[in-house]
Amino acid sequence: GKHNGGDGYSFFDDSMRQAMIERNQTLRDLKLAVPGNQFELHYQPILDLDSGKITKAEALIRWRHPTRGLISPEIFIQLAEESGQIIEIGEWVFREAAKQAAIWQQSYSPTFQISINTSPLQYRDNGIDINSWCHYLEQLGLTGQAIIVEITEGLLMESSSAVKEKLWHLRDAGIEVAIDDFGTGYSSLSYLRKFDIDYLKIDQSFVSNLSADSEDIALCEAIIVMAHKLGCDVVAEGVEEKDQSQLLKNAGCDFGQGYLFSKPLSASDFTLLLNSPNRP
Ligand code: C2E
Ligand code: CA
Ligand code: CA
Ligand code: CA
Repeated sequence: GKHNGGDGYSFFDDSMRQAMIERNQTLRDLKLAVPGNQFELHYQPILDLDSGKITKAEALIRWRHPTRGLISPEIFIQLAEESGQIIEIGEWVFREAAKQAAIWQQSYSPTFQISINTSPLQYRDNGIDINSWCHYLEQLGLTGQAIIVEITEGLLMESSSAVKEKLWHLRDAGIEVAIDDFGTGYSSLSYLRKFDIDYLKIDQSFVSNLSADSEDIALCEAIIVMAHKLGCDVVAEGVEEKDQSQLLKNAGCDFGQGYLFSKPLSASDFTLLLNSPNRP
């Protein structure tokens, strides 16, 4: 604006130009990230609310940029989707998570599962090749059970045959499917019946304001009852307070995930948590 000494628009021009330059630089750098081994997965525990045991982990990607430090997926996933690179990144995530699942199934629990985030673009024709995933799991001595894929509600509304085929193929391979951020997207629920979904992950926006007399608890209860009737388990995301955890447990919620239990951890810190006697 005026503080820029210009015509009132130069501030915006400059910041837009700056944003464009940064975006292009990030896109260039992103191409080098997989070959340069710059991605890492952090793991956030998912607890069985009845037993209090850690039975799963969600894998969350981070980019260790050579000069900018650790970059959040909020910054680069959308760019990677726009550039098509998400396919390559998605493959890397699957393999890294599978290797880690093999380690924790060996050292901690033979039924341990790792939940990975997937982009809708990975369900197009050139995306996930489920036969090659199965082959990779087999090489590691794993079955499909080791991996859960998280998808968006929007994906299920896409009627393309590639999407349907891949989702059915995943299920045939024993890989479970979770709907991420449930409640924030499309509202048609008929797809839940159509696709035999395994988990609904209640979005953290419904969990963060939970209290005994809030409308959000009524909403969570309704989602949980419906999910159970359809044969789905429910994971509550973004659980930060003991009260929220208790309310969710009372409402019949199966699993919880959030800062109350732990932030996402590096693989080595997660291993320490699994082995610590007074873990959550
Ligand atoms: P998401 O899948 O909904 O992941 C949950 C996000 O909430 C994570 O942010 C996690 O660190 C954060 N979180 C966990 N517990 C709490 C809590 O108690 N309170 C609050 N306020 N936040 C909590 P993160 O790691 O920055 O990931 C952001 C998003 O990036 C993810 O949202 C997911 O959509 C995407 N993402 C992450 N990893 C991948 C990946 O490997 N592939 C793809 N396609 N997307 C990914
Ligand atoms: Ca997720
Ligand atoms: Ca989520
Ligand atoms: Ca089911």
